[in-house]
Amino acid sequence: MLIVKVWNKNSYPYSEKFKDQPITIEANSYVEMDYDEAVLFMGTFRTPVKMKDGRQDPKSYKWLEIDKDDQKAVRDARASAAGDAAEKTFVCHVCQKEFRTKNGLLKHTRDKHIGQLVDKDARDELLDNEDLE
Ligand SMILES: [Zn+2]
Repeated sequence: MLIVKVWNKNSYPYSEKFKDQPITIEANSYVEMDYDEAVLFMGTFRTPVKMKDGRQDPKSYKWLEIDKDDQKAVRDARASAAGDAAEKTFVCHVCQKEFRTKNGLLKHTRDKHIGQLVDKDARDELLDNEDLE
């Protein structure tokens, strides 16, 4: 669960009933909520209130932003989670050791298990691979 700040950039307080809960954000202030909730909250439509002259009442503007630093933190956390998942995709079939890169796995296979490879073509391919260091 990633908590982010949702800023009200308007110079008037913002109020909305969201999921049966009244939420009020003071002018140029913020509330904290879960990132996924924040995205939903920001996406809800608020009926504009018209003034006498037909323009939208600025008090009814929905002018919300997720804090920039928090947005970056969410991106980093997701990239890191995706990276962790990807790292574990390279697993040695012989000893189940995990590797971060395919190269690391190939190198390990060549160094530790070259004699156990029954597939001669696969063995030759590894031995001929000059990219491995
Ligand atoms: Zn292994």
